[in-house]
Amino acid sequence: MTKSNEQNWKPATQLVHGGTMRSQFGETSEAIYLTQGFLYDSSEAAEARFKGEEPGFIYSRYANPTVDMFEKRMCALEGAEDARATASGMAAISAALLCSVKAGDHVVAARALFGSCRWVVETLMPKYGIESTLVDGRDLKAWEDAVRPNTKLFFLESPTNPTLEVVDIAAVAKIADAAGARLVVDNVFATPLQQKPLELGAHVVVYSATKHIDGQGRCLGGVILSDKEWIDANLHDYFRHTGPSLSPFNAWTLLKGLETLPIRVRQQTENAARVADHLASHPKIERVIYPGRKDHPQAEIIARQMKGGSTLVCFDVTGGKAGAFGFQNALGLVGLSNNLGDAKSLITHPGTTTHKNLTEEARADLGIRPSTVRLSLGLEDADDIIADIDRALEAI
Ligand SMILES: *Cc1c(COP(=O)(O)O)cnc(C)c1O
Repeated sequence: MTKSNEQNWKPATQLVHGGTMRSQFGETSEAIYLTQGFLYDSSEAAEARFKGEEPGFIYSRYANPTVDMFEKRMCALEGAEDARATASGMAAISAALLCSVKAGDHVVAARALFGSCRWVVETLMPKYGIESTLVDGRDLKAWEDAVRPNTKLFFLESPTNPTLEVVDIAAVAKIADAAGARLVVDNVFATPLQQKPLELGAHVVVYSATKHIDGQGRCLGGVILSDKEWIDANLHDYFRHTGPSLSPFNAWTLLKGLETLPIRVRQQTENAARVADHLASHPKIERVIYPGRKDHPQAEIIARQMKGGSTLVCFDVTGGKAGAFGFQNALGLVGLSNNLGDAKSLITHPGTTTHKNLTEEARADLGIRPSTVRLSLGLEDADDIIADIDRALEAI
């Protein structure tokens, strides 16, 4: 990459070329280095590499050339100094959280979290002596009030799953800084194109690459991005010795996914906006939440911190749970799946799937009603998606 000016490229260019490392064959597409280990020229070379005196790969649990390309491309896009890729989004998020704290520390997290993230904070961390307080992420005073002398970590996602609430990331980052805590942001729902948490003051950003980054429903993956100093001091040894490493094959799939991320996210966002507007005027729809609409309760924050809306729409069908189930069952083109960010449009009923483990009360706090469904827009023609929705609404 000596002839290029990688840091100054626009995102679309970074996503096609960023981090590319060619072999002696000069292949155009990125190579898959599907290998566990690497050979050394001599015993002395092996010794030097283990000492860190000579660059080079040692073992794919530590690092791998294809995984390296994916990490570097993500760094270029996010404007981060360094990254570590993982086998899944949850491997990334749990590593980022666990490596930020020790026994006796305290965590403040927004209560609207991806289900497994909430389990890590509420159930796993206390087993190791790490206490947590969950707050309404939208309430800045609640973040301030939750801070204790031993608070070391703030954690949030925005927009949230499934009700697409928005947290003012810059304001929460200021509170974290004042408390001497690190802010970790799960940026999956926004995608790296619509929102840049590091620019807004967050210290660490995490992704499930399973979602929009793959974008075609194939591989699990995740990535943690932050400053090099923090990653070296906190993640480096954890990754080597606990092994949440991403497979080189999956890293390659995700690299190819990154090439088309901007055009996919643009089209999916356009589809979501059209569907949201259509639903908003439909008599059988009780509520529509879409971060790109003026009637979103936090439209002002969205205009400040996001470049676009979302690829997801959350809405309520008349008739409660029976209405929502009947509607979902009548869909033909849109598939029933709890996954999201796929080229295929997917719908789920959070109350009985992704958020079934919460109490009725906790669900109500998050705005999840028996009638709530979450739709992830794919790359189909929006006319066909709308026709499918209309047909299914007519059936209930
Ligand atoms: C899917 C998802 C995760 C978990 O990622 P996996 O790749 O499934 O492990 C975490 N956070 C959010 C917001 C997600 O949508």
